[in-house]
Amino acid sequence: MPELPEVEALSAFLGEHLAGRTVGRIHPVAVSALKTYAPPLSELEGRTVDAVTRHGKFLDVTAGDLHLVVHLARAGWLRWRENLPPEPPHPGKGPLALRLHLADPASTGFDLTEAGTQKRLAVYCVHDPAEVPGIARLGPDPLDPSFTREVLAGLLSGERRRLKGVLRDQGVIAGVGNAYSDEVLHAARMSPYKLAASLSEEEVTVLYEALGGTLREAVERSRGLAAGRLKAEKKSGLRVHGRAGQSCPVCGDTIREVSFSDSALQYCPTCQTGGKPLADRRMSKLLK
Ligand SMILES: [Zn+2]
Repeated sequence: MPELPEVEALSAFLGEHLAGRTVGRIHPVAVSALKTYAPPLSELEGRTVDAVTRHGKFLDVTAGDLHLVVHLARAGWLRWRENLPPEPPHPGKGPLALRLHLADPASTGFDLTEAGTQKRLAVYCVHDPAEVPGIARLGPDPLDPSFTREVLAGLLSGERRRLKGVLRDQGVIAGVGNAYSDEVLHAARMSPYKLAASLSEEEVTVLYEALGGTLREAVERSRGLAAGRLKAEKKSGLRVHGRAGQSCPVCGDTIREVSFSDSALQYCPTCQTGGKPLADRRMSKLLK
C-alpha cells in the first residue's frame, strides 16, 4: 500500500504533469470506486488543474472549486500514460478503475488501477476535501512544520493502545501505515507492543526523531521518481517491513513477524524487544 512518502512523491509527480493543463474526458470504469455522485465527475472536464496535493494517504487534484480526491488503498496504483487510446475503456473485470485524459493531447493522462479482488480504491469529486470522511478524521501530518515533539507527546499521553496500532491509526497521525510504522519502530528500537502512554520523555524524543527521519528519508528517496518506479523504490528502502527471515541490517539478527488476520508486522528482536520474540500464534513458516 502506498503510504505518506509514496503519495507525497506521486502528488509531486502529478503536480508537475497536470498543473496548468486542462482536463479532458474522465471515464469511471469501476463503478464501486466512485464514492460521490454530486457534483458529477464530468464537471471536472474542461477545467484547468491548479495543483495536486496530499492529505495523509489521499491525493487531491484541485481544479478551481472542485477536488478529485483519490485513495489508492492497499492494491491501487496510478499509471501516467502518454499512449491512451481514443476509444472509451470497457467496464469489466480488469484492474482499470478510472481513466483521465488531458484535453490536449487526449492521448496523455492517467489510469487508476487496482489489483486483486478487495476493491477498496476510492475516488471522490467534492467541493471541499473535508467532505471526504477519511480526510475529515485525519490526525496531524507528521511532515508538517507544526508537528513538533510536543504534538506527538500530546497524542501519546493517555493513549492506552500499543505503539504499532497508534502509529498506523490515521486519526492519530496522518499517512503512516503498516510498512512505515514497522520502519519507525525499528529505527526507534521500540517494541511494536509497547504501550503508547508508557513512553518516557526521552523515549518520546527518540520516537519523534525516528518518525520524522524515516519519513523524510523515504520522501527524499522517492522524490523525482516517475510514478511507475515508486513501488520498487519503497520496497528496496525498507529495513524490516516485509523482510521476515532476512537479516536485520543493523544487528544481523533474524527479522521476525507477527501475523494477524489481514496483515503482519515485522521487527528485529535484538533491536526492539530485548532479544525476545513476540508471541505469535501463527509464527511464519519462514522462521521454523
Ligand atoms: Zn536488529
